[in-house]
Formats: sequence, structure tokens, C-alpha cells
Amino acid sequence: MGAAPTQLVVASRNAKKLRELQPLLSPLGLDLRSISEFGADDVEETAPTFVENALIKARHACRISGLPAIADDSGLEVDYLGGAPGVRSARYAGEPSNDAANNRKLLEALHGVDPARRAARFVCTMVYLRHADDPVPLIAQGLWPGRILETPRGANGFGYDPLFWVDDHGCSAADLDAAVKNRISHRGQAVAQLRQLLHG
Ligand code: IMP
Repeated sequence: MGAAPTQLVVASRNAKKLRELQPLLSPLGLDLRSISEFGADDVEETAPTFVENALIKARHACRISGLPAIADDSGLEVDYLGGAPGVRSARYAGEPSNDAANNRKLLEALHGVDPARRAARFVCTMVYLRHADDPVPLIAQGLWPGRILETPRGANGFGYDPLFWVDDHGCSAADLDAAVKNRISHRGQAVAQLRQLLHG
């Protein structure tokens, strides 16, 4: 009988994000545990950068689980809005986080702005910590360029997906099949980079 796979805690409680991460992380051959198994308290994502917020979340997950952890911090940057909603993407329209309210607020902020000036990108920073005091975190990042639509389309994905136009595929991110999104998305790119860092 072989050794049991190493356990790794994934520091996210967002069910839809976890559903995307599961197939991306499964090739690592680790026993993936959700942070929800280890307690209910959340940590404040107060830092101004994705990488700092990802580290805060991963460190917290290591602390409460005693296991190595992976955390991602992600969001949408819109050029016309000076990079907003950025690190505040989940809470753009206030707390608690609400995808429909966030999307409405984004459409209002871009009302009347012509398509050529609606460039945007999804950003995902993913970190891996061996333990809470790990001084050498592994850090990966993915960027996915697109454009903000004037009306939502598509029924898949989560968050801002219905408003995110993907030029290469001629559809919104919410029109994409989950496996296709994972192949090209900011999150897919970050996980691929992290797998390289972990396994060379
Ligand atoms: P986080 O959980 O703090 O990383 O918040 C990420 C927020 O950014 C989500 O709540 C979404 O609003 C947005 N976001 C990140 N990745 C995606 C994506 O793949 N599609 C749509 N929205 C996303």
C-alpha cells in the first residue's frame, strides 16, 4: 500500500470558485481539504494588492488547519475605472458580496462608455505556503484580457463572467464551458504556473 497523499487546504469558501479550482488542482495528486472543514471564522482581506491578500488568506488557512495551504486572490481590473474594482471586486457593491449587485454597479459605472474604451482583465494571484511562517511562499499569477459588455450574457461561471467578453472565443466568459474557461482563464494560468513551481 502506498503512502497517503499529502493534505493541502484550499483557503476559499466561495463554492463556485472551489468548483473551478477542484479540477485544476487535482493533478497535483494531493488530498485537497476545504478551509470550511476547519472552522467558520474568515480573515479580513484588507491589503491593497492581490498577492498580500492571498498571503493573508493562505497564512490564516495554515494556522487554523495545521496544513500547507493554497489561496488565490482574484478580481477584475477595468482600465476606464483606473483599475477598479480590483482587489475590491468581491465587495464592489458592498457587503455581503453579491454578484448581481456588483454587475449592476459595473454596468452603471460604464454607462455610455463606448466599446473601444471598455478594456479589462481578470487577475489571479495564487500562493502556496508550507506552513503559517513559511518565509519562501510560492507565488503565481495569471492575467486574462477582455472587454466589459453592455448587457450580461451566458449562464455559466460566476462573478463578472456574464459581463466579460472573450475576444478569442467570440463570447462572454459565462458562455464558456467550465473546462474551456479553466484552460484559458487567469485562474487556470496561475494554477499551471504554480504546478511548475511545485514540480518543476
Ligand atoms: P476573492 O474571493 O477575494 O478572490 O474575490 C474574487 C472576486 O473577483 C469574485 O467575487 C468575483 O467578483 C471576481 N472574480 C474573480 N475571478 C472571477 C472569475 O473567474 N469570473 C468572474 N468573476 C471573478
